[in-house]
Amino acid sequence: MKQNSAWEKLGLLQKKLEACVDDLPLANRPEDIVHGEGKVPAKVMMIGEAPGYNESVQRRPFVGRSGQLLRQIMQQVQLSEDQVFISNIVKARPPDNRDPLPEEIAAYKPFLDQEIQIVAPVLMITLGRYSMAKFLPDVFISQVHGRLHRVKWNEHWLYVLPMYHPAAGLRSTQVKESFIRDFEKIHKILAWVEHRLEVDEMKEEVAGAIF
Ligand code: URA
Repeated sequence: MKQNSAWEKLGLLQKKLEACVDDLPLANRPEDIVHGEGKVPAKVMMIGEAPGYNESVQRRPFVGRSGQLLRQIMQQVQLSEDQVFISNIVKARPPDNRDPLPEEIAAYKPFLDQEIQIVAPVLMITLGRYSMAKFLPDVFISQVHGRLHRVKWNEHWLYVLPMYHPAAGLRSTQVKESFIRDFEKIHKILAWVEHRLEVDEMKEEVAGAIF
């Protein structure tokens, strides 16, 4: 039987999400949905919070002021936009750009989870505390930003790198400097993670051959 490519799977998921708007909070029409975008599959996936005004008009994640800062820093550290997939915890804009509510996060969770499975990143970068809490529920961002974590997520091991939200960087120079420093470590961390995964794979091969 023909296997759908990751692109086809993502397209089907996006159609399914748009078809569900009547049952989802924050969205009234399919056009209210802002899908994730970027490379599929991708080595690096970033998850933010929720679309803001500019994102909901352009129907693209991170294209407003905080997105410009994010994309500028990505360019600065030579992390090409077409190497990564960028998405959000909720896929439609909360009124007055308020924080997403737990029930809104829960309603979009099945779609985000499937998106992650399709994108299959080796490194997950969370932007801000809402996406961080999905993988690391009991930590403070001020204590863990820029530090690599290995977490069990849906039966898989996942490497998660929590980062501040770029909007916080717009509000505080100190946070912006931390945000840049964390981003400067990405290539080193990615190389380490890729090596680690190779080692783990080899270990599995050896185990398979022995038993
Ligand atoms: N902030 C987010 O968390 N996501 C966006 O897409 C834009 C701003």
